[in-house]
This record gives sequence, C-alpha cells and structure tokens, in this order.
Amino acid sequence: MRRFAEVADAVAAQSGKLEKVASIAAYLRTLDDADLSSAARFFTGNAFAARDQRSLKLGARTVAAVAQRVWGFSRDALSASYRETGDLGAAIGPLVTPSNDLALFAPDPLSPSSLALAFAAIAEATGKHAGKRREAILERVLRACGGPLEAKYVVKIVTGDLRIGLRDGLVHEAIAAAFDAPIQVIRRAVMATGDVGAVASAARDRTLDHLHVAYGTPIGMMLASPIPYGERYTELGASDWIVEDKYDGIRAQAHLDGERVRIFSRTFNDVTQSYPEIARALGGARTRMILDGEIVAWRDGRALPFRTLQARLQRKEIDASLLADVPLRYVVFDALAIDEEFLIDEALLDRRARLIDALVPNEHVTLAPFQRLEAGTSPGDVNARFEAARARGNEGLMLKRTDAPYAPGRRGKWWLKLKRELSTLDVVVVAVEWGHGKRAKVLSDYTFAVRDEAGTRRTIGKAYSGLTDAEIAALTPWFLAHQTGRRGRALAVEPTVVIEVAFDIVQRSELHESGYALRFPRIVRIRDDKPSSEIDTLARVDEIYAEMLAREGAS
Ligand code: AMP
Repeated sequence: MRRFAEVADAVAAQSGKLEKVASIAAYLRTLDDADLSSAARFFTGNAFAARDQRSLKLGARTVAAVAQRVWGFSRDALSASYRETGDLGAAIGPLVTPSNDLALFAPDPLSPSSLALAFAAIAEATGKHAGKRREAILERVLRACGGPLEAKYVVKIVTGDLRIGLRDGLVHEAIAAAFDAPIQVIRRAVMATGDVGAVASAARDRTLDHLHVAYGTPIGMMLASPIPYGERYTELGASDWIVEDKYDGIRAQAHLDGERVRIFSRTFNDVTQSYPEIARALGGARTRMILDGEIVAWRDGRALPFRTLQARLQRKEIDASLLADVPLRYVVFDALAIDEEFLIDEALLDRRARLIDALVPNEHVTLAPFQRLEAGTSPGDVNARFEAARARGNEGLMLKRTDAPYAPGRRGKWWLKLKRELSTLDVVVVAVEWGHGKRAKVLSDYTFAVRDEAGTRRTIGKAYSGLTDAEIAALTPWFLAHQTGRRGRALAVEPTVVIEVAFDIVQRSELHESGYALRFPRIVRIRDDKPSSEIDTLARVDEIYAEMLAREGAS
C-alpha cells in the first residue's frame, strides 16, 4: 500500500484533473489483477465494490481507539489533529510513529489485495465476539502499515473518506486512459456492474463486452436542479419538455429480477423490508427491470402528505393494521434497465415508451402520468399546471427534457424541479456547532428560535445550509466571543444574530421547544437590519401551520 499511498498523496496535491488521471492511470498499469481491482475500488474511497452489500462496521470511534492502541498517542493529540484536518486518516497520519517491532516480527507489507482480504475478514466477523474480532483484524492491518503515509490512507479507506479531490468519474477516466478503452464504455460498465474493480480488470483483459447488468446493485439516482416559481421560465429555452407531478415521498430504485425484488433508497440502503406490499406487488414481473420512482402514501386516488408516510416509516413493526392504515404506492417515472439492456443513454421519451410496454401496473405500482409541454408554453400555463399538481396533493412539478439521458448521481439541467417554499421566518441563532469536513474549523450548524407571547425564545430548528463560506467564517469569531454556555453538544450563544430561514413544510414535533420542526430549513440571509426583539412569533408559526393543513384539506 506504500505505492498506493504515495500516488494518492501526489493526486491530492495536484490541482489539474488531467494530472490526477495520468498519475492514477500510470499506477494502475503497473498492478497485477488482484491489486488492480482492489486499488481501483479504494480510489473511489470504498473498501468494497458498490454492489457489495458488505460493510466494515467500524465506527470512527473504534478506528480511533485501535489507532491509539497501536501508536500510543493521546486522545487530546488526536482531537487537536482532527480539528486541524477534518478527517480521521489525515488526523492520525502525523501521529504515527515508526513501528518498534523487531524486524523478525514485522508483518508482511500491505498490498491492495492483502488489504482487501483483511476487509473481507472484518466484514465476515459474526457472532458474539464479532466486534472484538473486527478490532483485532484492524489492529493487525494498522500494525502492518509501513509508515505515516500508508496509515493515513488505510484509515481513509476504512472510514470511507479519501478526500484527494478525486470524484469517481476521474477514476473511470484513469481506467480508460490506463487500458486505452473508451470512457463511455467504462462508465456504462461501472454502472451496469456496480464494481469499478471488476471493470478495471475487464478493461485490462479487453473483456468489457462480457459484463452484465448487475441486478441488485444500486445505481446513482439522477437529480434535478431547482428553478423558482415565477413569471418567466427562461430555463426551458427552446427544448422540448415533459411535465409531471413532483411527488412528496421517498425516492426508490427497484430492481426486479423475477421473484427477487430489491428496493434501494437514495442513499443506497436496501429498504425492501420497509415496503413489503410494494416488494410483493413488484415480484414475479415477467421482465427484469431497474425502475426509478417515488414511494408515497396514497388513498382515494391521491397522494397523502409526507408526514403520513413518515409516521409509517417511524414504526418498527410493519403489521397488517399499519399496511391498511397507511397504504403505499410506488409511482414509477423511469426505467434504467430492462432485461440485459441498459437504457441510461437513451432519450427519456424512449425510456418511457419501453417502461410503458414493460410494466404492468397494479394496486401498489403505477406509472407517473406525464404531459408534453408545447414549445413556447406560456409561464401562466406552467403556473396553472403547478397549481393543479398542488391541488392533487403533490409538492410541485418536475420538468424533464424529452431527449435527456439518465445521468446517474448528477444534478443537471435535464431535470428541473419547481417547488414553492411554504414560507420564511425571521429567527434568532441561540446555539452553534462545529461543522464537519471542510467546515470542521468553523461554527456552521445553527440552532435557531422564535419567540412566544411572553417573549421567551423557543427553538424551532437547525440549519446547515444557505450561507456562504465567507459569511460563516466571519460569524465564527463573533459566536466564540459571545458564548454563554453549553446546550448539549452545541455552544449556547447570545441571541443576537437574526437570520431568515426558508422551509418547505412545518410539522408538529417534540424535538424542539416550540413544538414544531421545519422541513428543509435553509438560511436565506442574515438580517442585520432586524433586532432579535422583532423575530417572528410562535403565533405566526401556528398560523402558517394552520394554513398549510387547510390547503392540504386535512384540518
Ligand atoms: P428534492 O428532494 O426537492 O431535491 O427533489 C428531488 C426529489 O424529488 C427526487 O429525489 C425524487 O425523490 C422526488 N421526485 C418526486 N417526484 C418526482 C418525479 N416525477 N421525477 C423525479 N423525481 C421526483
């Protein structure tokens, strides 16, 4: 792993994509088969292939404890180093001291393939002492690290956090460059197989044509860019679009392989067990398919509000009464593969046509209806369709280009989402927390409050997004200078900084003192112009909540 670590470190220091790709390609070319597939996977920051359901089950705390045991540094030293770097591998690296082991007892040096074997052994540990066994193997791995650099990258792979400015796409380019294969073929093969390692080997052996669609391996989900509701829709340009409702549920990718059905969430978790009636309804389809769609709570021909679905998801036991109380429907809007054919490069309308032919709808599975949007459609027409979608109980509209390919994991201009925020509130920041990753050195997570009739501040939410890095950096010293104590993990601060937050939904919740929580809160701006005595009131939140219920027809 010494060479791997050196290459990774060089890549981290390089700023140009071409340079990064060239460095990795040159390294991959030198590896034999077992090292090649493992190293390619590791460069994507993963211990295993994407299609692999195994995981190391080693939390950051455990990794830190084992590393402490191996290299004998103090907890404080690690905390300080972590604050500096924001990731565990980079934090541990400088604390690593050369091994004192006599050469006689020195373990064999690690290679990508031997590390992969150790990972497999960690993942396979089961039973009562599994935790201890995982730690023991990790300890052996860390002891086998030849020095700080190797340790740094091994820990980064273990924690799944490589951070060398290397998107998966660049690893694909490096494989293409190393073995002189077309990049589109590599990309497609990675998506089809869910294993960048197998693709690297196949590229070298010139057997890329033999790879199959891997049913059961989740594929990155295509994402939409937001556009504002309004007077003009310049984003539509002169292209042809379809419109369909934006359902407010849970994104789900379903893999239908005869009786074997698996449903994956947006974070690639296998959530099949949570939706037994949908899995059943998809089972036994005559055609093998990979579908994309949204799971919504559904009754009497319309979607129910998200909170109905959420209530079901919070329950552990899925018994018959729950199935009856909260009926679900999988609204399918795309097909990524049918049988052995991968469809992602085809135009949306062609994929739709294939989908309509292949999928037989039933009580729990339907096709999302869509309409063509005539070129030059007026903004008024788009807005009318939006209002109609809302009246049907849905969140807004999706606009999709008729010629759009399916771009896994990408947020592009092929799909646009049109939502309207419910409202905004002016609130005051009462507590702050250190961020993570590149925000580890700034106070970036804000807990904020509204005021009740008596003027007492009542927390209502927490926001991480919306402000620029510069704004957060500027506020950090102010918060540090105006701390008033602790509030759980957060620092309580003087309630002075007023911010405006936008949100999509307000819900009843025990989580915050106000009795409400906001869904998707984001900071719109800092309200320097407003004193904290003038922030919005709990009564205003009551009003917004009542209006929302009335609109949903649920009050
Ligand atoms: P957002 O969660 O607001 O970023 O919006 C994107 C999400 O909208 C997707 O991840 C889907 O879960 C969801 N969605 C709802 N309806 C559709 C649809 N018709 N097409 C695509 N995505 C949809």
